[in-house]
Amino acid sequence: MSKVEFNTKNLEKCICKTCPVQAESSCVKEKNIKVQEMMEENMMPEPEMVPGLYCASGKAACSDLDTAKMCQCNECPLWDEYDLPEGLPMGYYCRDGEAQ
Ligand code: SF4
Ligand code: SF4
Repeated sequence: MSKVEFNTKNLEKCICKTCPVQAESSCVKEKNIKVQEMMEENMMPEPEMVPGLYCASGKAACSDLDTAKMCQCNECPLWDEYDLPEGLPMGYYCRDGEAQ
């Protein structure tokens, strides 16, 4: 697998935003509002501000995620694009760190 780049194109493809693991997180909701505002102004937020693209940026800054729910990464376009099943961890990058 190749390293996932932290960029706008990949952030748009990332489906962490609809993942049940993050659905109840108030920390994620707050971050999403800020990220949305920045992206509308064509500004790329710093990785720690973004509640997604964890395969590139590593563990989530928010601590209120529910990892008992199912990770959706295998449904993400980047899963095949970057051959993520060839690396580790296998999903749950928000909990276990970036894809390597
Ligand atoms: S593989 Fe997972 S963490 Fe990476 S962009 Fe897709 S949904 Fe987000
Ligand atoms: S890395 Fe996986 S478990 Fe974590 S938020 Fe993204 S899709 Fe959900």
